[in-house]
Amino acid sequence: MTLSSTLYAKAQTLIPGGVNSPIRACRAVESEPLFIARAHGSKIVDVDGREYVDYVMSWGPMLLGHAHPVVHQAAKDALDAGSSFGAPCPAEVDLAQAICELMPAVEMVRMVNSGTEATMSALRLARGFTGRDLVVKFDGCYHGHADPFLAAAGSGVALIPTSFSQGVPKACVADTLVVPYNDLDALKTLFAEKGKDIAAIIVEPAPGNMGLVLPRPGFLEGLRALCDQYGSVLIFDEVITGFRWSLGGAQGRYGVRPDLTTLGKIIGAGFPVGAYGGRRDIMEKLSPCGPVFQAGTLSGNPVAMAAGLANLRELAKQDYAALEARTGAFAEELAAIVRSKGVPVQLNKVASAFTLYFTETPVTDMDSARTSDAKVYTAIYKQMREQGVYLASLGYECAFTSFAHTEEDLAKTLAAARALKL
Ligand code: PMP
Repeated sequence: MTLSSTLYAKAQTLIPGGVNSPIRACRAVESEPLFIARAHGSKIVDVDGREYVDYVMSWGPMLLGHAHPVVHQAAKDALDAGSSFGAPCPAEVDLAQAICELMPAVEMVRMVNSGTEATMSALRLARGFTGRDLVVKFDGCYHGHADPFLAAAGSGVALIPTSFSQGVPKACVADTLVVPYNDLDALKTLFAEKGKDIAAIIVEPAPGNMGLVLPRPGFLEGLRALCDQYGSVLIFDEVITGFRWSLGGAQGRYGVRPDLTTLGKIIGAGFPVGAYGGRRDIMEKLSPCGPVFQAGTLSGNPVAMAAGLANLRELAKQDYAALEARTGAFAEELAAIVRSKGVPVQLNKVASAFTLYFTETPVTDMDSARTSDAKVYTAIYKQMREQGVYLASLGYECAFTSFAHTEEDLAKTLAAARALKL
């Protein structure tokens, strides 16, 4: 019995499913969670002392790698000055400035404590600004666990047979309209019918929660045009893509300017942080300037702000193009190895993220993502873990590399892949 198993048994008596976020339980891949003792660079180490090359990276935040010394020193220094004040602190102004400089569409920004808070607040703001209720989301996009987004959502929600959570009153999702991702025609039809009542489109510009799916040329531009035509607010949920797709996020990479942007993960460097920002005229509707209320006891937490700021400053010194080239070549080779074992593979990749789908069908939306053979993913997950490679515990996720991943890490991973029995 490993220490992880012992802890998991105990955890299940105390915490529902033994975990504080569902897919950590590894049920989709018929495994048990590893309990993690520590992490450094590209590696995590479980409580039994086994080290793994990590492609989860805390589901995205750790783009510099785990326990980056500069980021940690910034957090430690901030901590020495006190862990929370419930009052403004200098670091939140500096982080706000850094975000606004890197993402010009973000003219003002409000800090919160998670991606979920960021998206639910951005939607409230869009509704308050437009005086409309309807929101359009895309099948398989995940925007956190606030009620209006728990309709046809990706990530762990996709494992619930209906893709709808119980406990969400029908009224809370009645105003959520769901359209297939990449389907501009369906969206145009919807807007022709209901456009003047649509407060916002919320979209992961390149979804990472049905695995990784890329926008078709013209798709994001089409969203922009529809929002302009009908006076709806375009919200880019960049909780995953922000500062990963490029320093300026997906919006910088694809050259489409949203009205509002939601952020999380990387801006907190692993601390619990989210943020939402965008057009000044919209942001100034927020309390205390305007009538849309949103607040947070720990928002702008000084330790998280200091870590996030150090993270963005360090990221600005990195070579994104080199990491993308390295990750892309690695992902291609991984796909080729799996294909050589007689399994059909579709590879979607961009920047330092990729997903392998085990299907003949190119994956462009949630329906095509569902054609991926989950049994193959389960086999790969288990066998790679046995060999010291830590992958996401669900096929509808991205694999992430970081600036800390070395050639040696990638070579070790490819060697493990060559040994797979599929
Ligand atoms: N939006 C997106 C695109 C996400 O991927 C996630 C989380 N994976 C969220 C929102 C919610 O963020 P959090 O888990 O911090 O609430």
